[in-house]
Amino acid sequence: MSRTPPMSVAVIGGGAIGSAAAWQLAARGHRVVLVEQFGPGHVRGASHGSSRIFRYSYPSALYIELARRAGRLWRRLERLHGQRFYARTGSVDHGNPAAVQRLARSLHQAGIEHSVLTPGEAELQWPGLRFDGMVLHHPDSGRLHADQAVAALQRCAQVEGAEIRFHTSATGVRVSPSGVRVLSASGSIRVDQVVVAAGAWTCDILESLPTLSRSLPALVTTQEQPAHFAPRQTPVGWPSFLHHPGGQYLGPAVYGLAAPDGVKVGEHGTGPRVTPQHRDFRPDPDGVGRLQQYAQQWLPGVDPTLVEATTCLYTSTPDGHFVIDRRGPITVAAGFSGHGFKFAPAIGELIAGLVAEQGRSPTLFRLGPRVSEPVSAGRR
Ligand SMILES: Cc1cc2nc3c(=O)[nH]c(=O)nc-3n(C[C@H](O)[C@H](O)[C@H](O)COP(=O)(O)OP(=O)(O)OC[C@H]3O[C@@H](n4cnc5c(N)ncnc54)[C@H](O)[C@@H]3O)c2cc1C
Repeated sequence: MSRTPPMSVAVIGGGAIGSAAAWQLAARGHRVVLVEQFGPGHVRGASHGSSRIFRYSYPSALYIELARRAGRLWRRLERLHGQRFYARTGSVDHGNPAAVQRLARSLHQAGIEHSVLTPGEAELQWPGLRFDGMVLHHPDSGRLHADQAVAALQRCAQVEGAEIRFHTSATGVRVSPSGVRVLSASGSIRVDQVVVAAGAWTCDILESLPTLSRSLPALVTTQEQPAHFAPRQTPVGWPSFLHHPGGQYLGPAVYGLAAPDGVKVGEHGTGPRVTPQHRDFRPDPDGVGRLQQYAQQWLPGVDPTLVEATTCLYTSTPDGHFVIDRRGPITVAAGFSGHGFKFAPAIGELIAGLVAEQGRSPTLFRLGPRVSEPVSAGRR
């Protein structure tokens, strides 16, 4: 597949992004070793759990095209792996009329199937939800099973020849004229190039590369806490949903979807700042209370008293746009700001292109100071 000679590449981080990069790099014939500090399916980063929203509704064509490409690659991965982990449930955006209209325009321009409904029409179709103003429905969106998708990325990377070393923590990266070394307690790995896909640990690993570290936009890690509510009836036919504040509802952006563990609901990016080493994994009762109030008002299809919350890390850039860029032999992929999962295989492809020097990263994703318009209020 590759027109460049095969290289040796170390990928640091086995979350969705590092695993996708390993798959795409190995599929191009590169010799890949992925190091992950924890075990398979761990719950300490951002990529675990049973559900992530996959949707096309973004205000910018860049993200819509990335989602389109990712959708094709997720389907290819399902075929290669022999397991379905994507459910086409459709997705709805409602709330702030200007935000919803802008999304409708973007979908129209990109040729993505969609329709606009009144709240009454939408409530007839999805009685588990109450709607706030015009409703944008895009039927090809849906839900990814996060744990299964990451396992499939890793398995397919291995089938393509990648080596995955779990329980191996990279302690630093050293660049020299003869190549790069990834340091770890069990010895160093000498390679041609390194991909840093370390999520909330990115700044720690880049400490050993001060010049690169200085060009990284400020990354903020927060502990977020979605909750699963018991549906009043079997949750058949729920779309995933995004409630953009600014209509009747004025709280933080809320997202949700019917997941295998119940109807998942979360506020976008309201969690406390933490470091991955110092966090308590304990959902904050006030936050759970806010989600219960939200469910009481906007989700007639769930029992607001039957709720189970969980925690997960966001690592966010100031504008919500990702960091995917290369300096010398190091490619950094970080700052996925609570909305990166859906794009993972397309980002893996982008990373493989950067490693092979086939084109540059989109301007919005480059290292350096951030001056762009934020991606959108509710970004999931
Ligand atoms: C609650 C929640 C809901 C979300 N919902 C959605 C959604 O609906 N749709 C969507 O598209 N996105 C969603 N996201 C965002 C998405 O899940 C993340 O953007 C994505 O998972 C980020 O993946 P990552 O690989 O960058 O980070 P991570 O999954 O954190 O992976 C980084 C990995 O690097 C490893 N690592 C770090 N340092 C080292 C080291 N020194 N040596 C070895 N290994 C190391 C870590 O152990 C970790 O496994 C959500 C996120 C959260 C938290």
